[in-house]
Amino acid sequence: MKNNILLFVALFVSLSAFAQPKVVAHRGYWDCEGSAQNSIKALEMAAEIGAYGSEFDVNITSDGVLVVNHDATINGICIEDNPYSSIKDIKLKNGETLPTLAQYLETAIRLPGIQLIFEIKGHKLPENEDRCVDASVAMVKNMGLQDRTEWISFSMRVCERLHKLLPDAKVAYLNGTESPLQIKERGLTGVDYNQSIFTSKNPEWLDEARQHGIETNVWTVDKEELLRQFAKDKRIDIITTNKPVLLQQIIKE
Ligand code: MG
Repeated sequence: MKNNILLFVALFVSLSAFAQPKVVAHRGYWDCEGSAQNSIKALEMAAEIGAYGSEFDVNITSDGVLVVNHDATINGICIEDNPYSSIKDIKLKNGETLPTLAQYLETAIRLPGIQLIFEIKGHKLPENEDRCVDASVAMVKNMGLQDRTEWISFSMRVCERLHKLLPDAKVAYLNGTESPLQIKERGLTGVDYNQSIFTSKNPEWLDEARQHGIETNVWTVDKEELLRQFAKDKRIDIITTNKPVLLQQIIKE
């Protein structure tokens, strides 16, 4: 019996020593030939390199079309104030047309190995955030992508609405202003915080997250030294980076 327990402990220790952080490509894998941030190509490339997830940003137009774009504006046009027709022909840096969420998710269906790290952007008007959440959730459900979608937002309003609509989904807060215990009390599942929160501002939150079963994701880590530091920190579950291939190499070493 005692030997069995020792064996179990040894197994557990060795398994946890091999626990590796998951690699999330920030705005997809865009830092390569033919790609661009938040493009369909960047999603395809993230899948091709075998990243755990591809992160992307979603805004809603005035007439309810969900588009994948980081900023609230594109070519000076505010997305939430304008109809889709006013932005639909805009080209990304790689020549792709600005993707709608529908187009992006249709591509994701063809790429079953990759998780979708779905950021709902803050909007000027709270009702636009609500419309963006509701339409995004409906589309993900309709396309059968619920199990592959992990939600993130800087807006607590968005996070709480997501949790209400999808009580079993992973929802992580990006803004860095709440402790893991506060996140748990809201029913959310993760802290997805800027690296400075975990390195200097509130480093104790990494242990606190472990204690309360809150998932940790750190962004956006691109410097090799910091990638190495976070990659060996067993309290980090996910690293979001613009250098996913470098991070994969570091993890493999
Ligand atoms: Mg983002």
